[in-house]
Amino acid sequence: MLLTGQMNPYHEWEPTTVALKDILEATGLFAVDVMVSPPRGEDLSGFAPAFGNYPVVLLNIDSDAWSAALHKSFEEYVSGGGGVVVYHSASNAFKDWVAFNEICGAGGWGDRDASAGPLLHWRDGNKVSENKPGRCGSHGPRHEFVVTFREADPLIGKGLPSEWMHAEDELYDSLRGPAKNLDIVASAFSAKEKDGTEEHEPMLMTIRFGEGRIFHTTLGHDVPAMQCVGFQFTLLRGTEWAATGDVSLPVPEDFPTKDEVRLRR
Ligand code: ZN
Repeated sequence: MLLTGQMNPYHEWEPTTVALKDILEATGLFAVDVMVSPPRGEDLSGFAPAFGNYPVVLLNIDSDAWSAALHKSFEEYVSGGGGVVVYHSASNAFKDWVAFNEICGAGGWGDRDASAGPLLHWRDGNKVSENKPGRCGSHGPRHEFVVTFREADPLIGKGLPSEWMHAEDELYDSLRGPAKNLDIVASAFSAKEKDGTEEHEPMLMTIRFGEGRIFHTTLGHDVPAMQCVGFQFTLLRGTEWAATGDVSLPVPEDFPTKDEVRLRR
């Protein structure tokens, strides 16, 4: 299930949903049903996606608050072993929903501040949670940047170059959250000259919530950024892993190198 239909003003859910569905279905491995929420400001009380019918739910949504019943339904789905993919700005959603923030691991924006939890970085070979005042969610101007696989779950990066050049995109920094049962799968350096933090920021993460597996990618702001083969293949790997606990797709020949962006238009 690709869950969408409400988004913040900085992102467009319609073109990114088309692109996500195309990327997933082009493999022959996934059949994607798009579930569209009622729009912002409308009554959500009758909105009840049947999460349990799907091995994985991909979130491309930043929505008005859900009902308590829908919170419960989603939490039970994930804790019971459901898969979730948190895509880019979905980490901006649901600031006040405690379990959602645990499922996401770390997020930003959406009126979040330091009370959202410690900052999450990769530093000196380890995941670091840092309690420090300041912003929650930021990025500098779009640019190409190197993404580096870290230890964590070995499946997502299996057979891929340890470093690869990502297409022009937002490099999310200063994400905060509980980061419980979270592994940083890949990071990128957020440089000061790009209005960054001088920290290695988490780009790809895996999170466990009960029996559920969550893959969180901060990448892919819009359709041009989503043309990056590195974005696409890590999304595919992460989605399959969230659904099944394993990965099976072969490494594509056009995966980016450390120096060269590779796009599929
Ligand atoms: Zn964005």
